[in-house]
Amino acid sequence: MIVMKFGGTSVENAKAIERAAAIVKGRLEQQPVVVVSAMAKVTDQLLAMARAAGSGDRKTALKLCRALQERHYNTAGELLGTALFTEFHSDLAADFENLEELLRGISAVGELTPRTTDYVAAFGEMLSSKIVTAAFAALGLASALVDSRDCIITDSTHMRAAPLFEETNGCLQARVAPLLAAGKVPVMGGFIGSSKAGITTTIGRGGSDYSAAIIGAGLDAGRIEIWTDVDGMMTTDPNLCADARRIKVISFDEAAELAYFGAKVLHPATVLPAVQKNIPVYVLNSRNPGCEGTRISARAPRCRNSFKAIAVKKRITIVDVAAPRMQLAHGFLRGIFETFDRHAVAVDVVSTSEVSVSLTVDSTESIPALAADLAKLADVKYEGRKAIVCLVGENLRETPGIAARVFGELADVKIRMISQGASEINLTFVIEEDVVPEVVRRLHKAFFSDLDAEVFA
Ligand code: ASP
Ligand code: MG
Repeated sequence: MIVMKFGGTSVENAKAIERAAAIVKGRLEQQPVVVVSAMAKVTDQLLAMARAAGSGDRKTALKLCRALQERHYNTAGELLGTALFTEFHSDLAADFENLEELLRGISAVGELTPRTTDYVAAFGEMLSSKIVTAAFAALGLASALVDSRDCIITDSTHMRAAPLFEETNGCLQARVAPLLAAGKVPVMGGFIGSSKAGITTTIGRGGSDYSAAIIGAGLDAGRIEIWTDVDGMMTTDPNLCADARRIKVISFDEAAELAYFGAKVLHPATVLPAVQKNIPVYVLNSRNPGCEGTRISARAPRCRNSFKAIAVKKRITIVDVAAPRMQLAHGFLRGIFETFDRHAVAVDVVSTSEVSVSLTVDSTESIPALAADLAKLADVKYEGRKAIVCLVGENLRETPGIAARVFGELADVKIRMISQGASEINLTFVIEEDVVPEVVRRLHKAFFSDLDAEVFA
């Protein structure tokens, strides 16, 4: 069997769902289990109405809810035609009645807990999986809805619940495997699950990829396909560099570094359960299904090129913390990191000298308060409008002189920080934000002009 996961944009309207159906039809022999996200933007909207209700603004919450209802009705109507939609209508209507009641309850209490948040957020995937199941059936696929809350069993950490693999695998075998054996196409919502006590949970924003991996690992899938709206992972952001090319195959570790530094396609940590079982994961484009996409493999393929990709993260602030007298005394770093932790500010790149530490953080409103707190420990300066550039490739490990080549290309560029990651597969440095396009173009020209055809498209 295989898992085919369709993201929000791949089920965003009737056209998209029809495209998904056609793609699934082409794979029937491989026994697909289909996992769907909520329709694009729906989770954001559900969370917005939950927050409105939580702040006592019932009117706004219900208004948002009705807009959502209309969108789902319209999509279902378009896909199913009048006769089928009439049949299906009461099912959807009941869901929206429940959602409304929930929102009224939340606004009456005026408090939104993580548990209630999950209850609201789960409607997105519940609704999309129902509509997709019905649409698939109408389009001639033998689909069968599986409520993911009966299969994905998690702990009770609401809004980022951790799956309990043993229980989950048992449920998948019991509920999904028989459907496959009967020649059905099971359709499940991603992102949602339930605790052992049966309370609805969600596994974190963007969690449908994770659901796909959990399901694939639990059912021993031959492959997992993540259907999205781009052709796969690219050597760099095509908006920055028109010469960007598709990466045909990339290792899990490389993909993880790229995701950390801003590549938005897929967070590979979410497909770890699959990679650990050596199940290949593909990123594919539902608008261009003929394209072979990007394969994420457990081990790196042989590659003639030094790097697989250049990732860039903009809107970065450098924080310099200097301890003039203490000379990085014992406990100094701990004090610094504890301060970052207290302000819930995540650090990306760190470099230290004898008397100072430089750290990069995403630019946020929290920085002035953080800096004020750090100033109790040491002298603090911070400077925004920076960018992190990250070159990623497993070959970095074995290639001497590579740093010299990289920085040789950038001899006239002011480099603010440099770090070669502990993973030894990334070379990372910090520059001024306004030179990013020029730097990326130059590096791309230097390292991606002559490409290994096995690895790059
Ligand atoms: N719908 C959820 C979200 O937007 C999960 C997902 O799309 O992966 O976070
Ligand atoms: Mg998504």
